[in-house]
Amino acid sequence: MSSFAKPAAKPPTKLIILDRDGVINYDSDQFVKSPDEWKPIPGSIEAIARLNQNGYRVVVATNQSGIGRGLFDMATLNAINDKMMELVFRQGGRIDAVFFCPCTADQKCHCRKPDTGMFEDIATRFHVGLNGVPTVGDSLRDLEAGAKVGCVPILVLTGKGKKTQAKGNLPRSTKICADLAEAVKMLVTPPPKLTA
Ligand SMILES: [Mg+2]
Ligand SMILES: [Zn+2]
Repeated sequence: MSSFAKPAAKPPTKLIILDRDGVINYDSDQFVKSPDEWKPIPGSIEAIARLNQNGYRVVVATNQSGIGRGLFDMATLNAINDKMMELVFRQGGRIDAVFFCPCTADQKCHCRKPDTGMFEDIATRFHVGLNGVPTVGDSLRDLEAGAKVGCVPILVLTGKGKKTQAKGNLPRSTKICADLAEAVKMLVTPPPKLTA
């Protein structure tokens, strides 16, 4: 006989996949090409920390064709992402990984959203199925990529979000939130108890 309790079953990994530009930081038509040009949208850093506090692992999946176009190099992209991760860290949160596609649209790669390569890589790396995993983006291609692999697409109206909403044709299951902070509030707030 043993008096040791069985170890509690490990809860399944809760994952969320975020686009970067226009979701976490202000987007720019001229591309975000340096750490100085990377400026967080108010509330987004706190929102990521809040996700962590509620058991989410936070992963970023971002198209960065500025690399393929020669607008900035890998060292610069790393420096930009380091700034983002440092700000999150100082807020008590953490971004587990940043997946990026460096390709331009005409390179026809499998990773560039709306294709699903980055999402598949995330599923492999974190050993999770993507069904029902929330994914937050401001462009149609973010939502489409997520919807293709069973994620719950959430459109934020920051960045290109308002234009995306106006153009329509969103995946059927898309939820719409003002910004990342509101999306996170929706995700971590338990639904109201039904009263008899
Ligand atoms: Mg974006
Ligand atoms: Zn790619």
